[in-house]
Amino acid sequence: MNGTRSVIHQSESAWANELRRRALATPVPHDHRELLALFRAHNPFYRERIDATTPWAEIPPLEKREIERLPVDDDPTIKESRTSGTTGLQVTIRNNQRERQFRRALLYRPQLFYDLPSEVRQVVFIDGAECATAGSPPKYFEYGEQTYRTWFAGAGAEPVNIARLLTEIRPHLVRGISSGIVCFIEAHGAAFRELGVRYVAPGGEFLSDAWRATMQAAFAAEVLDRYGSTESGAIAWQCPYCHRYHANTDEIVIEADPAGLLTTPLFVGSQPLLRYRLGDIISFDDTHADCRIRLPTITITAARRDDWIIDGAGNKVSPLSFQFEKVPQLAAWRLHQDGAGALCLYFESSHPDTVSAELRRQLAAAVPGRPIATVSGIWKSGWASKFKRISSDLRMPGRTSVTR
Ligand SMILES: [Zn+2]
Repeated sequence: MNGTRSVIHQSESAWANELRRRALATPVPHDHRELLALFRAHNPFYRERIDATTPWAEIPPLEKREIERLPVDDDPTIKESRTSGTTGLQVTIRNNQRERQFRRALLYRPQLFYDLPSEVRQVVFIDGAECATAGSPPKYFEYGEQTYRTWFAGAGAEPVNIARLLTEIRPHLVRGISSGIVCFIEAHGAAFRELGVRYVAPGGEFLSDAWRATMQAAFAAEVLDRYGSTESGAIAWQCPYCHRYHANTDEIVIEADPAGLLTTPLFVGSQPLLRYRLGDIISFDDTHADCRIRLPTITITAARRDDWIIDGAGNKVSPLSFQFEKVPQLAAWRLHQDGAGALCLYFESSHPDTVSAELRRQLAAAVPGRPIATVSGIWKSGWASKFKRISSDLRMPGRTSVTR
């Protein structure tokens, strides 16, 4: 069982070293029978769902809509987080405090292999409109050989404030949501090549070649992507040595199912997910990377990639144009353009009337010359845009819809 046990069961001070050691060691195969026994012993949902003899591959995948039926541990440190819904349906994920801390340890794993000083300054792009100043007290975190000092920049904050923060902090590392970083670079215009940023490590969304190039050009730094989800935590990370995506297969059972990625995070006990269907399309690489990191590598082929919208004059409108995260009381949204060009924005809000009016106003400004409808209830958008927050059925004659 030791080969399949998560590092979370060791003392917190050992996490970084153990995650480093395992990344450099030959992977140990999972004992599926033993894992299933653990899931059955721990949670009545799985005791009812599977019996002791069911082989792993015949366990029905856990679908997003089933999450609400999962019993959750009675633990006062549990906090909820909602997924963005970009992979199809919003779900609520519950982790206790130790699990949240371990998720961060796993998220920081790639940095164990970065060339960083012992005191790392980092700026992290997050959702929201708040931006720290250089004078704000940073958040401290010790991990591996490093102490991290972190300042947060809301992707919806004024670009000039983010620029000032970057210029004054001179971060070694820029992390956070990919579209937020790109939006900022495009809005601000100026480059930050002299700041001494060593790495830009975006995540949270599919990183297109164009976005990667934008970041690389703006910061003159190496861009190393991360791939993960709210549900399962950090799944894979681009390697500073071989540049492939190494998968955290020691902490997450990752199955490249053709109908959509299945993940079983081994470090989550409070709301245990067994063969959870995340839905992205990935494949394990056929050839081994020539790399000191021994974790297997994957290729991500379809994951939360948004379409472009075409306005009434035939201009393409970037998916980055939609800054709806600034709209108060908006919980989630999805935008669809039909084959005739009409737009429909599906949204979730506790104040649908107010939010609807604001969304229509912003949408009309971003995409002129198209009919606009808003619909309260994301579920009404159906399943056409499984991987997308923004989807379009409209195709321009002679032009392709550029998503890479
Ligand atoms: Zn590598």
